[in-house]
Amino acid sequence: MNQASPMMEQYKAVKEQHPDKLLMFQVGDFYELFFEDAQVAAREMEIALTSRDAGSDNPIPLAGVPVHSAETYLNRLLSKGHKVVLCEQVEEAQQAKGLVRREITRILTPGTITDPEMLDENRNNYLVTVINHNHDCYGLAAVDISTGDFRVTEQRGEGAWDNISDELHRLQPSELLCGSPETEQLCRKQFAMKKSGLIEQLPYIPVLNESKDLIAQQWGDNTWSALSLDNYPLAAAAGASALAYLQLLQQLPAGEKLFHRLDLYFTNRYMIIDNVTARNLELTRSLREGGKQGSLLGLLDRCMTAMGRRLLRRWVELPLLKKNNIEERLDVLDEYRHKPLQRRELRKVLQDIFDLERFCSRLSYHRVNARDLVALKKTLLQIESLKKMIADFQSFLLKDIGANMPDFVSLINLIDMAVVDDPPLSLKDGGLFKTGYNEEADHLKAVAQESNTVLLDFEKKERERTGIKSLRLGYNRNFGYYIEVTRTNLELVPPEYQRKQTLVNAERFTTGELQKMEEQITGARDKLASLEYALFEELRDKISAYTDQLLSASDNLACLDCMQGLAEVAERHSFCRPVFSGNKDMLIRQARHPVVEQSVFERFVPNDIHMDKKHYLLVITGPNMAGKSTYIRSAALIAVMAQMGSFVPAGEAELPILDRIFARVGASDDLSRGQSTFMVEMQETAGILKEATSDSLIVLDEIGRGTSTYDGMSIARSVLEYISREIKAKTLFSTHYHELTDLEGNLPGVKNYTIAVKEKGKQVIFLRQLVPGKADKSYGINVARLAGVPLEVLIRAEKILNELEMAASSAGDQQLSLLPMVSEPSSDYTRELEIIDQLKELDLNRITPLEAIQKLYDLQKQLLDYEHIDSEEEFG
Ligand code: ADP
Ligand code: MG
Repeated sequence: MNQASPMMEQYKAVKEQHPDKLLMFQVGDFYELFFEDAQVAAREMEIALTSRDAGSDNPIPLAGVPVHSAETYLNRLLSKGHKVVLCEQVEEAQQAKGLVRREITRILTPGTITDPEMLDENRNNYLVTVINHNHDCYGLAAVDISTGDFRVTEQRGEGAWDNISDELHRLQPSELLCGSPETEQLCRKQFAMKKSGLIEQLPYIPVLNESKDLIAQQWGDNTWSALSLDNYPLAAAAGASALAYLQLLQQLPAGEKLFHRLDLYFTNRYMIIDNVTARNLELTRSLREGGKQGSLLGLLDRCMTAMGRRLLRRWVELPLLKKNNIEERLDVLDEYRHKPLQRRELRKVLQDIFDLERFCSRLSYHRVNARDLVALKKTLLQIESLKKMIADFQSFLLKDIGANMPDFVSLINLIDMAVVDDPPLSLKDGGLFKTGYNEEADHLKAVAQESNTVLLDFEKKERERTGIKSLRLGYNRNFGYYIEVTRTNLELVPPEYQRKQTLVNAERFTTGELQKMEEQITGARDKLASLEYALFEELRDKISAYTDQLLSASDNLACLDCMQGLAEVAERHSFCRPVFSGNKDMLIRQARHPVVEQSVFERFVPNDIHMDKKHYLLVITGPNMAGKSTYIRSAALIAVMAQMGSFVPAGEAELPILDRIFARVGASDDLSRGQSTFMVEMQETAGILKEATSDSLIVLDEIGRGTSTYDGMSIARSVLEYISREIKAKTLFSTHYHELTDLEGNLPGVKNYTIAVKEKGKQVIFLRQLVPGKADKSYGINVARLAGVPLEVLIRAEKILNELEMAASSAGDQQLSLLPMVSEPSSDYTRELEIIDQLKELDLNRITPLEAIQKLYDLQKQLLDYEHIDSEEEFG
């Protein structure tokens, strides 16, 4: 057995403190991982797995990455849900007596990243804690330490978990810590299908008094009572747990105020959009790619700043409920519409505004350098000109933003007087400050500069004294100042010259005088560098005093940016201002689906949406691909957009204020989830029937598909009956069960619509036009033909269809006929079938070649004539 080296002993001691994390242990220029950590890291970071002491009996698995490029590797580990401990050398190897001292310098977890390089600036990176009491009381805290965003909420009673779960889907935490094993289980189930961040149990939950202390430390003694946290003990506990966790990670230095605001919020103060609805409507993620592109957010996001983009996501996810608040935003958009030039100017200025919110967070972590301050100055200058521009606008919100924008003139001056325009990256080497900022620094700078002339004089003097014309004074990092004499002149070198270094063609010397000068010069330089560093810390603290103003500016800018972005989209796509008339009708003329509209090749055909007290339950039939799903979703999207304060894709829109939206898609349309789809569909439907009110909008897309025809249809029918009689919610129901159209006239509120198609020979032409009434057939076979299904299969399908229809009609069972009636028997494929039959019947042994040619000609002509008629009709 080989004895563990002292370094490995050191390693093991650190590892024991953090068995659940990957330990990256600095060894010279590398971070090294050992044992199991090495195996995990090699796999996750895609680096080579080697071993330490390879020749020995007990080689230790080893993986390493260079310190200078560690960030990318770290990023990979964190994004895969690992936690990492960085243990670094804290003294120079040369100075160390024996083993180099090492300390834990950082503990990184997916939810506590502050490095901007490792984050997507367009979205928050949340660490979330969830605390529960029994099964109906939950507190949640969401913390983004890269922005200083800290919010807590509490949900009680039936449906509490559902609301928390919806909020988790909105927050998309990269680290989720639960107060109990049960909650952890629930969370795991929620995110089971997706590659998610970390889900774990909280290592520690503070008791009440401790919670009060933690919260008071961050936000002051009054916060607890100001937010009435006694009434929201679980929200407070969740917040305090998050703080305690950050302390454990050494991310919350004692006495530092990292989070400037504690936001107690309640999602039921917004329009409720549950997670399934958000997904089906593709609010922030497209179903196909899963990304922002192709979603409503992707379309609406014309923001110019990172703060704006992060806020807009929240606006889309949580539309407003109060008419006043909505109208305030709409007023701004309206004013922008009438002042397009001013808005464009504003947009241009916003472009040069950096991420003020994340800057503030880095400021509290002391992670800003001189270049950040120059960037801050530029941003503040832009804010000053924005303020002037906003003064030209009248709408309330803009006036409010203008009035609340703090005055940054003194801060701008402070930075401007202090920091040079193009400072170096490092804070340690000086060169940061302008002349005139600090007297002592100016003096030291002068000394350093003067030394140049002194050195030149010295060089000249030595040349003359020794008679060596090529004598040269030089400097390098390792040897300092030297006198260089070429080999040919060596005999002229005076005896007091001391040899420093030998080169191929020359020797380098120093003298007592030169050494003295050197000490003075480097002394001044070192002094200057450390003085500048101290001055910088002082300046940073002065700027920290402005944090509240900077954050307030950041909020105002985000809001300003969101609204100019929405105005930009509205202008580009000709959206109109929605009207909330107060009566509960939804009357939309020429509605469009904002996202599909962008992707269709043909012209997008707008349609009206008309729902009032008499007709609030629209049953929409029509063949596959006609545009049913698109139509019913457009109503929901218009409602979401309007209540977030955006213009909407329509000619005119009079809307009610909706308390919530439900959107469900029949199971067979949604195979991505792998669960028993029909079961899921029924659970979701049950949820709607429990929670919808007459102020809700329900969008049901082919519900009842996931089971046999009769089951599905019966369920669909009874759901409609229940909505019609009990809930009276506005409902859009698309279905391929044509039988359901007989509800019109028999059930209050129901009206039938269909999306018109035209038949041309064997083809259907989609007109995309919504018309009252019902579809007379399903055209499934025509669509199959469009899709390129082989002819033989189409012919067979047509035969089966005919037989089934005949059987159904002879049974006299019109009400529940299995298949829809066909208005006239289609003879399209029969003709092709006949031609094939003729070919089959040909007895090739009995006809002459000439007859064969003749027959071939005949058959071809029959086919061609037929297609000719077809195409003529299409263009005629
Ligand atoms: P359905 O639900 O009836 O099967 P979809 O709503 O999925 O049909 O629409 C199918 C396709 O038809 C869409 O992807 C889109 O390309 C196109 N489409 C739908 N509605 C319209 C419209 N109003 N104008 C133009 N194209 C449309
Ligand atoms: Mg559909």
